[in-house]
Amino acid sequence: MSPAVQEEPRTTRQGYLDCIHCGLCLSSCPTYRVLGNEMDSPRGRVHLMRAYDEGRTPITDTFVEHMFRCLDCRACETACPSGVRFGTMMEDMRGAILDERGADPLTRFVMNHVFPYPWRFHLAARLLQFYRQSGLQSLVRATGVLARIAPGYAAAEAMTPEAPLQTGVQTGHTYRAAGRARGTVALFSGCVMNSLLGDVNRATVALLNRAGFDVAVPDGQVCCGALANHAGLRDTARGMARKNLGRFPVEGVDAVIVNASGCGAMLAEYPLLVEGAEAFSSKVQDVSAFLARASFDDALTRPVRARVGYDDPCHLLHAQGVSRPPRDLLRAVPGVEFVEVAGADECCGSAGVYNLTHRELSMEILDRKMERVRAASLDILVTGNPGCLFQLRYGARRHGLDLEVTHIAEFLHRAV
Ligand code: SF4
Ligand code: SF4
Repeated sequence: MSPAVQEEPRTTRQGYLDCIHCGLCLSSCPTYRVLGNEMDSPRGRVHLMRAYDEGRTPITDTFVEHMFRCLDCRACETACPSGVRFGTMMEDMRGAILDERGADPLTRFVMNHVFPYPWRFHLAARLLQFYRQSGLQSLVRATGVLARIAPGYAAAEAMTPEAPLQTGVQTGHTYRAAGRARGTVALFSGCVMNSLLGDVNRATVALLNRAGFDVAVPDGQVCCGALANHAGLRDTARGMARKNLGRFPVEGVDAVIVNASGCGAMLAEYPLLVEGAEAFSSKVQDVSAFLARASFDDALTRPVRARVGYDDPCHLLHAQGVSRPPRDLLRAVPGVEFVEVAGADECCGSAGVYNLTHRELSMEILDRKMERVRAASLDILVTGNPGCLFQLRYGARRHGLDLEVTHIAEFLHRAV
């Protein structure tokens, strides 16, 4: 009998071997739709990754641009009949690029010295709020001074999120359900969510309490690491994952609830970064999916009379496969006229800081979406991720739409 042949284990990036070059992913890719260039399509990027891995191409400036032009939206994964795990391949490839070329110093500084420390992130968020509320922002915009001296920064400044002072939830605290609890969940409070969208976190806790769950908010939790991971800073992301894994109880909680889909996707994929994270990750659930499963539609009794649409965050739809639960909950609210918006499953162009690093392309993608939102004549557009929320609010302003853009937790809270 011939000895068994030992196969070398595949690396993550060798997922390109699953690609059969069928091209079914092309039309789902936002960068391909805008640019029409094969190398800015999933298939083209897969081809480039393989060529690099097999030593047929070095990492050139053009190669880097094609890789970083990808929004990591993972729409190609949903479209792919061959199961190509594009997101993890891309993150791995970006890690290799950074190993060879180093990260941009500002990105490295922010990812290593701001995001992992909740109080520093909180301080940065408060400075942003002061800038807006002190009148300084209005002055900068009215005089056009920034646009004259640094047009790039002025474009970034135009994107600063509307973020009034909002108190988030208290970490290290358990919020009790009224009456006898049917279970306990842990809340991932997030960095952006608890600093810039504190109302959403408080609404999330109120909904979970109303559904009959005690909500524990573990102390010492930090940013999930998604932005660092998407940027290719794998070790930074791994460090954040380890911190969070040490802070979250797994035994004794029914679920780990997340209300930011980018964070949810990251937490669910911790096992790709850290060994032994499976038990934690298996409990991660988006708040909309959890509430729908808990039959929360019965609690939605207060009418909200409005034409309401829903925009899928990519990392909820493509990375976590959640599409129906948020729609079912919205439809269950008395008075809501639910409208399915064309292209709701397409990326809004936010993608973390993509709207700052690739502003022109991001705006093209956003403009296409906002035209379809306009055609739907909505009163309210609901979504489930902070980046999408800020981008769509900006899109509404940019297109002069009289449209409220809100988070699903905040919206549902109006109906209980
Ligand atoms: S992740 Fe999104 S932007 Fe990147 S290749 Fe896939 S579909 Fe295109
Ligand atoms: S759909 Fe999948 S198999 Fe087909 S070209 Fe795209 S990545 Fe390759």
